[in-house]
Amino acid sequence: MRAVTFQAPNEVRVEERPEPELLASDDAIVRIEASGICGSDLHIYHGRVQIAPGFTIGHEFVGTVAAAGEGVTRVSEGDRVLGCFHTACGTCFFCLRGDYHKCDEMRTFGHGAVLGNLPGTQAELALVPRANLTLRRVPEGLSDEVALFAGDVMGTGFHAVSAAGVQPGDSVAVLGLGPVGLCAVQVAVAAGASPVIAIDSVPARLEMARRFGAVAVHLTEEQPREVVKDLTAKRGVDVAIDAVGHPDALDLAIRLARKAGTVNAIGVYIEPQKVHMGLVWIKALTLKSGHANVIGHVDRVLGMLAAGTLDPTPLVSAHMPLDDAPEAYRLYDRREALKIVLTP
Ligand SMILES: [Zn+2]
Ligand SMILES: [Zn+2]
Repeated sequence: MRAVTFQAPNEVRVEERPEPELLASDDAIVRIEASGICGSDLHIYHGRVQIAPGFTIGHEFVGTVAAAGEGVTRVSEGDRVLGCFHTACGTCFFCLRGDYHKCDEMRTFGHGAVLGNLPGTQAELALVPRANLTLRRVPEGLSDEVALFAGDVMGTGFHAVSAAGVQPGDSVAVLGLGPVGLCAVQVAVAAGASPVIAIDSVPARLEMARRFGAVAVHLTEEQPREVVKDLTAKRGVDVAIDAVGHPDALDLAIRLARKAGTVNAIGVYIEPQKVHMGLVWIKALTLKSGHANVIGHVDRVLGMLAAGTLDPTPLVSAHMPLDDAPEAYRLYDRREALKIVLTP
């Protein structure tokens, strides 16, 4: 089968790989029909994540169950399914508390030996361990490209909002309007937050956030702190979401949040960063972080996608054949696309 593999920084290749086989009774094998390229794939592409040359990458997927072990009870052969970007055991300390994203045995698709040595899903077939937890049936009528969002990007947007405890009527600022930020805007609006203030410096992304119901604010051509003051009786927002993963965004989020408000840093951090802890302390902020608990959220997210309450369709900027993955990565790296869907 064909698979997209990491070779070296800024180089991926489409290579022949052996077909996966069922190894455990709760494994499934999925014939991939669509796989997305994600911002975290770019960390791999740039060589910031340690991964062996020749390893299959990708972690967003929709497809059909081609085979399932006898322990797989929640999906069966022939079912159209979507996957979450990582697996969880369901029985460890963290899983029993619902913190599937911190499972002791979690394995992330397409992230090399460090994150569980699980080959990725930008391929014709993928082995899916813990299929009862990792896979969901795609609701009737939902397209591949929309379902694809449930197991990662929209799940992360959902987590950004729900983990921050957003209530109807809360004011929310979203910093960074990449796919996760734009999804967070949709979830915040759907959760009844108002106003939702969306901050970025790319006009097309600001326009999309405006269409999703946000007040769009240009990071440098406007003054986000002044706009937030004007819209919140000078208090600051109840919740500020850093969907960038850069200390400048985190610093602005801390400044935009009101006293006793919440900041959720959902963007990816790898290195140590400076945080103005004095400001966090004096404002009595709650600071949350970490990647999303997508397995915990996926059923709610699917329900909202099926109802049309959330609709990431405008984020899909390109469909490309799997064989064009090298070109797709170059395009995505140039920030010329929000979401590229690869089809084998
Ligand atoms: Zn991802
Ligand atoms: Zn677990």
